[in-house]
Amino acid sequence: MPPDLLIVRTFIVQFFVLRDGDGLYLIDTGFIGGQRALHAALVARGWDTLPIRGILLTHGHLDHVRNAPALAAQHGAWISGPERDLEHYENSAHYTGFGRVAGVAEWVGRRLLRQPSFKPDRLLKDGDELSTWGGLRVVALPGHTHGHCGYYSAKHRLLFSGDLFATFGLGPQIAPAYLNQDNAEARHSIHRALALPLEGVLPCHSDGAPPERQLEYLRKLARGC
Ligand SMILES: [Zn+2]
Repeated sequence: MPPDLLIVRTFIVQFFVLRDGDGLYLIDTGFIGGQRALHAALVARGWDTLPIRGILLTHGHLDHVRNAPALAAQHGAWISGPERDLEHYENSAHYTGFGRVAGVAEWVGRRLLRQPSFKPDRLLKDGDELSTWGGLRVVALPGHTHGHCGYYSAKHRLLFSGDLFATFGLGPQIAPAYLNQDNAEARHSIHRALALPLEGVLPCHSDGAPPERQLEYLRKLARGC
């Protein structure tokens, strides 16, 4: 695991802190309890005095973006996220087919938590290159949501894979149909991810195994789809 990477684990979801010089960048922001977990993890690593400069989002689901507006306001950080998930950030996503189950859960959650609508400072598309952390490439991995993306570090041959697949709880699995906006696309995205030169992947719903092991899980899943 690169020393300038910190994983913040919470009950159902994890997110990532990248250190770049004297600044910090987040990939996703977790769900309820995420801000407390972030603070504790930064203190434990001795990074709590460093400024959070930017937030990258893999997609617009509530368990990934919940803390983004508050953290951005608190730290004066920018937010970047995939353009095609704009309706999620704006609390107006439309779900069809089985995905309507996720849509209802999201609708209820956003109202109960009074999730503020927000617009990222920069909207990303496939192939965009960010200078953060020695270079990160936006890799569109649609299906889970229409805009869902990963962030690829060529330097570390590492992919932050969002919810492309999950290894938390029931073992390695593609996100179930009722959580996806397009299942055929989600399966295609698994093969797209594996076409990258990779040594590891980091999913957001993880059993805690190292990135190399997560990549083995993903390769195994790909054989079945
Ligand atoms: Zn999701």
